[in-house]
This record gives sequence, structure tokens and C-alpha cells, in this order.
Amino acid sequence: MITVMKFGGTSVGSPEALKRVADIIMNTESDKAVVVSAMSGVTNFLVGASENPDCDAEAVARQFEAKHLEVASQVLGEAEMKAFRKDFDERMGRLRALLGSEASRSDPYYRDDVTSQGERFSSLILAHMLRARGADSVALTSEDCGIVAEGSPLSGSADLARTASNMAIKVKPHIRGGGIPVITGFYGIRNGAPLTFGRGGSDYSAAVVANALDADLLEIWTDVDGFMSADPRIVPGALLMDEMSYGEAAELAYFGAKVLHPRTIEPVRTKHIPLKVRNSFRPEVPGTLIHQFSKPKGGLLKSVAMKTDLSIISIESAEIAFYPAIVGRIIEKIAENEVVIYSISTSLSSVAFLVHNNDVKATLNKLNSINTSGDIEMIEVKSNVALICAVGDDLLGRCGVSGDIFSAVKEARANVEMISEGASDVSLNFVVPMSKVTDVISVLHKKYVRGEQ
Ligand code: ADP
Ligand code: ASP
Ligand code: MG
Repeated sequence: MITVMKFGGTSVGSPEALKRVADIIMNTESDKAVVVSAMSGVTNFLVGASENPDCDAEAVARQFEAKHLEVASQVLGEAEMKAFRKDFDERMGRLRALLGSEASRSDPYYRDDVTSQGERFSSLILAHMLRARGADSVALTSEDCGIVAEGSPLSGSADLARTASNMAIKVKPHIRGGGIPVITGFYGIRNGAPLTFGRGGSDYSAAVVANALDADLLEIWTDVDGFMSADPRIVPGALLMDEMSYGEAAELAYFGAKVLHPRTIEPVRTKHIPLKVRNSFRPEVPGTLIHQFSKPKGGLLKSVAMKTDLSIISIESAEIAFYPAIVGRIIEKIAENEVVIYSISTSLSSVAFLVHNNDVKATLNKLNSINTSGDIEMIEVKSNVALICAVGDDLLGRCGVSGDIFSAVKEARANVEMISEGASDVSLNFVVPMSKVTDVISVLHKKYVRGEQ
């Protein structure tokens, strides 16, 4: 049996947290591979450095170095610290060269390289901690493992087949021999250089590793008790879900439940690998099991999520009903910029798209570029809206579901700006103004998840 265990930023964010994680790993009886995020705060720090052309490279490197050495010195004994220092200095040398290189800055993948550096150091510290506890552990970078990535800067995805054949040779024998590889999350390798999987991408990395190793279980260890019925930071009464289906978890993660990176489910679902979300600060809690089945719940909804900072772009054209190909042309054009469209809604003479606020400008430029024949009569943008994803059992087959949900929206005095219903029988999505989103989520949760009136 192989278990892939992923630990997030807060779980490896302090000496105490790291010690808890090392104990959890050592107490897990199975062949295993570990995937880690950077220590909390480190990726944000590197993002800042990579985006500031005037930053003092040496000062950044020194601050980064001091933070990691301070933590390492608190979790490693003298002998292990010596061995650690050798690997550490080697990695620091590469980071210094990268930060100091003016030429690299013009590379479109430069930010991927810089921001992915944190994982190389957290994995090194943890591997040395495990060695000190007697394990045959080694820190492996995504380069070492052969995690292959493709795609544009800061939003890569993994090539599952090539990654699996690389890891079968480079990693599996070590695990089968009782070793514990500690692997960098967050990025893969494209043309020999790092490409990150988007913020929070270590969950996806872990799912890719689980897929590649044909693991029997993926455990995502984080700072909450499991997948909950809403973000506990927004809804204080959020409930822990003991079980969910892949489909339910995928919808919620894609539409804003930050506990899992939006793409985590796919690599495990294709191989039917069960996934558990667990709390590294409270390992006694069993967490949430995500697998092929879902347990029906009495009430209307199981969980709600939200995606904020979105904009609705509405396009009017008399051609839409009679020449539907125009919608295809518009989507194709928008997709050229790799803009994600979260929802589409059409009528006789208009079509509306939901995109991130940051993508509005590029989308409008694209739309203007295809409007040479004047087919598009008007384009309107409504910014700062949020999408709510409500997940429940058999939402399509039950009578009165939308009536109930929209009565809750009315109770929160919000206006529904756009609706997507019917595409999935586990979720119903709709858009409200950002200013109302937490009110709507709270009312929905209270009435239809907790069942309180
Ligand atoms: P990690 O660093 O372990 O990857 P993240 O901060 O990325 O952790 O994700 C965990 C956080 O996700 C929680 O602290 C919580 O605030 C947030 N979250 C959002 N939606 C949910 C949900 N439905 N269930 C649990 N946590 C959620
Ligand atoms: N360290 C990366 C981030 O902060 C990846 C992750 O934590 O999953 O986005
Ligand atoms: Mg995360």
C-alpha cells in the first residue's frame, strides 16, 4: 500500500508544526511519499521579489536564508544540521544566482522559477528531520522526480502519462525499498525549467504524484479539520463533512473552496484513488473522505463555496439566435488568452460570460478584434461580482430547489445577476454582487445546510 501525504504551508510553517508533521509521517504505517508546500508566507515573499524589478536581490536572499536556517536550527540536531547545510548552501547558491540575474527577468517563466523556490527548502528541512528520526528519507525536487508540466506562465498543468513513466523509474523503487521521498509541491518542469500550477498548487502536485505512483490513498493535511460545509473563516457554524464524492469536491474546489486547489480531484478520480483531507494540528480527527460515492444528506444543501472578484461581460448581437456559430467564435477568441470562463448564459440576442476581474481588459481587446463586421452591437461589463456554488444531492431531480435557494437570496436582500443551473445535478451556481456574497452564503448555510429557520 502506498500513501501520498501532502502538507500545506501552515502545516510546515513553524518548528512546532514541522515536528508534528514528522511525527504524523513516522506514525503512518505504509509505504509513503510526502509532498510539501513552502513554509507559510514564503511564496508570498518570493512573489513580491519576483514582481519588483528594483528589489535588492542580496537582501531578499539573506532574509530567505535566515528564515530557513533559523527554523532548521530549531528542528535539527548538530549532526543532521551539518549534512543539511551542505544541501542547503547548494540550493541557496542557485537561488542567489537566479535572483541576481538581470537576463532571466525577461524570461516569461522567470516568476515561476523564483516563486517555486520555497518548496525546495521546506522539503529539505523535512527530509533531514525524518532522517534524524531514522528514516531513509531524501528531498526530491520536481526535476529529480520528472514531474512534467505544460502550459503558460503561472498556470501549468501536469502531463500525467509522462510524469508516471518518469516516477516509476526515479521514485517508486526508493519507496518500495522503504524510503520516504519528500517531494516539492507547486511546480513541474517544462523545457527544463519550473512551471508552477497556480497558487495553492501543491494539492494538485500531490494528486499528480498519487496518480503517477498508483497510490492507494492521498492524504491532504491542512489547518482545518477537513472539507467543511463552508469556509469556516467566513461561516463560523460550518460543519465538518465526513464523506463526499469526487464530483461534489471538484465543483466546490473549482468554484472557490480554497481547501483544495481547483484541479486536485482529476488526477485521483481517473484512478479511483481515495483522498482524505485532514488537520495536521489535530491528527486525532478523522477528516473528510473523498471518493466515488456520496452519502445522501437529509437537507437541501451539503456545502457552499464562493469565488470572488469576477466580472460579467454581456454581449448583444442580433445574430446570436440565428447564427449560433458567433458564440463559438467569441469563446474561441477569449480562450486564446487562456482566460477562464466560469459561466456562460445566452438569450435570443445576448450572451454573458463570467471572467475574473483581471481578465476583463484582455477579453475586451479580443472581442473588439473580432468585431470588424459590426456583428456585436454592444458590450457591457459589470465588475466586482461573486459566484456562489451550492452543492447538494440530486438538485436537478428535486422539485422547488431553485425556489428555496432564491428565496434565501432574497432574504439576504441580494440581486441575482446570472444563473447556471442544469449542467450538473450536484451543483447550482449563481452570481451576486460582491457586497452581498457573505450575507447570501450565511443565509443559505443556516437555512439549508444546518436546517435552521
Ligand atoms: P494549506 O496551506 O494547507 O494548503 P489553505 O490555506 O490553502 O491550506 O487551505 C485551507 C483553508 O481553506 C482553511 O484554513 C479555510 O479557511 C479555507 N477553506 C475554504 N473553504 C473551505 C471548506 N469548504 N472547508 C475547509 N476549509 C475551507
Ligand atoms: N506555496 C504555494 C503557494 O503558496 C503552493 C501551495 O502552497 O500549495 O501558492
Ligand atoms: Mg492550499
